[in-house]
Amino acid sequence: MDAISYERAGDIAGAVRAVQQPGAVFIGGGTNLLDLMKGGVTRPVRLIDITHIRGLDTITTLPDGGIRIGALVRNSDAANHALVREQYPLLSQAFLAGASAQLRNMATVGGNLLQRTRCGYFYDTAFTQCNKRTPGSGCAALDGHNRTHAILGASAQCIAVNPSDMSVALAALDAVVRVSGPAGERTIAFADFHRLPGDRPELDTTLQPGELITAVDLPPALFSARSHYLKVRDRASYAFALVSVAAALQMDGERVKTARIALGGVAHKPWRASAAEQMLDGRPLTQATLRDAAAAALRDARPQHDNRFKVQLAQRAIVRAVNQAAGRAGGVA
Ligand SMILES: Cc1cc2nc3c(=O)[nH]c(=O)nc-3n(C[C@H](O)[C@H](O)[C@H](O)COP(=O)(O)OP(=O)(O)OC[C@H]3O[C@@H](n4cnc5c(N)ncnc54)[C@H](O)[C@@H]3O)c2cc1C
Repeated sequence: MDAISYERAGDIAGAVRAVQQPGAVFIGGGTNLLDLMKGGVTRPVRLIDITHIRGLDTITTLPDGGIRIGALVRNSDAANHALVREQYPLLSQAFLAGASAQLRNMATVGGNLLQRTRCGYFYDTAFTQCNKRTPGSGCAALDGHNRTHAILGASAQCIAVNPSDMSVALAALDAVVRVSGPAGERTIAFADFHRLPGDRPELDTTLQPGELITAVDLPPALFSARSHYLKVRDRASYAFALVSVAAALQMDGERVKTARIALGGVAHKPWRASAAEQMLDGRPLTQATLRDAAAAALRDARPQHDNRFKVQLAQRAIVRAVNQAAGRAGGVA
């Protein structure tokens, strides 16, 4: 049995200091970390409990009209907060599509951002090949069961996907992650927060060692009237996305003023479908244009042997989610 010490951080500076100790990690709700520890995927020797740090568990308005969601806000509280429900319904839907009520009651926003992939070869230490777990060991998923794996942005080192629903909505909404670390405070644009695997698949994000996520900022709400989070999964609940789409629109009559589309379940990071957005911006929202935009979003897809179906599934999900966002119920897919 491994000995593990537990420490409760009282403030941000104390947490940042404590996590500098060898083998120390932060623990939020523990819903991902404890699973990883039980499976022997990760072996910290010191847990720094951050859930008692004051001031990180609130949602507040910002001077520019946006909102700040503290890193310790529980997923359920964020989903059901009046500001989130009214101004960022896309984010509320994404939270509620994730996990189960019990897990959402425990899971924090900071922990959700850092939850690790659900690749079975990463979780099962009986498989010795996993570049994400043991850099340089290989990738068992490449020749194994890869139905749920990446179709965009993968590398020869890793084809795992990011499993977070929340993060897909945050990508579409251009969120900003606030962190505090040994070198002080900084902000990270959401597009730069999660990484593609490249030849360093063990790194999920651009967070530096010892940095604590303190909050997520959202810019003023532009899409509260027209947005939709669509999650396609094997079971109706309590399952990770095969493909998900966060779609948000600003319309000028029948014409799209601004489209935001992000995909989940397809890449190592939430995937912003910029090519599709560009094809929609400024154009009338016809089904032909929408299908072309969806095709453009998947043009660079490189599926694995078990997940070719994801390419068409993602295209159809984009069409459906954008139609739903535009208020065209049941959007043709
Ligand atoms: C059965 C099951 C089903 C699930 N289904 C879904 C699903 O459908 N969709 C979905 O999106 N998620 C799903 N999840 C994942 C769940 O959302 C995450 O486990 C949860 O969001 C993690 O948050 P946490 O606070 O518990 O993180 P923890 O487990 O406490 O921490 C996770 C990681 O983040 C680090 N960390 C935590 N907070 C901070 C911080 N503020 N700063 C820096 N580092 C930090 C920890 O050190 C750790 O490495 C599921 C989980 C389970 C167990």
